[in-house]
Amino acid sequence: MKIITKNWGEVDAWKIGSYLDAGGYEALGEALGKKPAQEVVEEMEKSGLQGRGGAGFPTGKKWSIAAGASSEEKYVICNLDESEPGNFKDKSIAENDPHRIIEGLVLAAYAIGANKGFIYLNGNFYEAGKILEKAIADAYEKNFLGQKITGSDFGFDLEIFYGAGAYICGEESALINSIEGKRGEPRNKPPFPCECGLFGKPTLVNNAETLANAAWIMKNGPKEFAKLGVKDSPGTKLFCIDGAVKYPGLYEAEIGASVEDLVELAGGARVGCEIGLVQVGGSSGRVLDGASLGKAPGYGKQAELAMGSGSLLVIDKHQSVKKLLQSWIDFFQRESCGKCVPCREGTFRLKGIIERLNNGNFDKNDKEDLKKLVWVLDNTTFCPLGKFSVTGLKDVMELGLVRELKYD
Ligand code: SF4
Repeated sequence: MKIITKNWGEVDAWKIGSYLDAGGYEALGEALGKKPAQEVVEEMEKSGLQGRGGAGFPTGKKWSIAAGASSEEKYVICNLDESEPGNFKDKSIAENDPHRIIEGLVLAAYAIGANKGFIYLNGNFYEAGKILEKAIADAYEKNFLGQKITGSDFGFDLEIFYGAGAYICGEESALINSIEGKRGEPRNKPPFPCECGLFGKPTLVNNAETLANAAWIMKNGPKEFAKLGVKDSPGTKLFCIDGAVKYPGLYEAEIGASVEDLVELAGGARVGCEIGLVQVGGSSGRVLDGASLGKAPGYGKQAELAMGSGSLLVIDKHQSVKKLLQSWIDFFQRESCGKCVPCREGTFRLKGIIERLNNGNFDKNDKEDLKKLVWVLDNTTFCPLGKFSVTGLKDVMELGLVRELKYD
């Protein structure tokens, strides 16, 4: 079952006519012509869609909060920052079916009563930027953006904001700071952006994959969407599957597929490789050994395994786990925004210890310090980046994968 990737390979991303021939913008026309905004919010709530950026917050609930905020001015932002290693799903949607994102954005704007929106695009996504610029220009020309959209009373303006590619700007309040021209670092919450976001106005921030589901839900009905996937995590999901598999790439599957099923979808182990570990959800995700591959990633407390962004790194049995630890901590130390001490100093210290682990200078003091640092990062950082920087390390320690890190 395909929702997001349905048009890929068939629709020309550079031509709006191609999207229209595939039934594009029909859901928007229908909504603006016949449905009150409240009904659009209710349909999103009934679908059960959860945010596809990683946190899995119910999308309908977010739309409802933003719709209920009283303000003359509101904003909608599509989060297309996607900076975690191994993730390339949002960029791929923009490159293959940009109008699906734009249609979702206008639906979201109509639902909450916003007249201005941004696509926050990672500045490194050159091709996606070019395609989106063209798609926005074409959507204005065909009156799917601008004033009196499709003859209705609703108007919405959209532009791209190019970020500098910082991982922390995927966090919604840091993203908002970045658009405002401030340092890309997270804000205190509450207030949440739906109440007080961009320029102090109610702001809905949705991930690109989340928005790309909206038109399908409005067209086919929330019940059809809710039938897909599993009860607590309905719908399909894009999975970026990388590493020691035969066919690394992007796959769409119904939620409920186990890690094992997903690895099979990518052709199973590559010739000459033996699957030892799988990391689910990017560099900040859990690390599973062979005994846990039957678990299915999903959203919410009921899920056997946290979905995160939905990427899978399949790791060959002969891969050095110490080097993996180094690449993870190098990434988090580099991307720490520096706002809070536990993460700024903690990731820096951790990086040094993992370097010593790799070059043979790891000693008893490092082992004790490591234990303390993992606790500090796990429990005291300002935002989830610090906490998630040690998810993989904790699993490696728990599974006893590195001799020096074992505790008696
Ligand atoms: Fe910045 Fe890290 Fe603190 Fe988050 S946890 S606010 S990324 S320093």
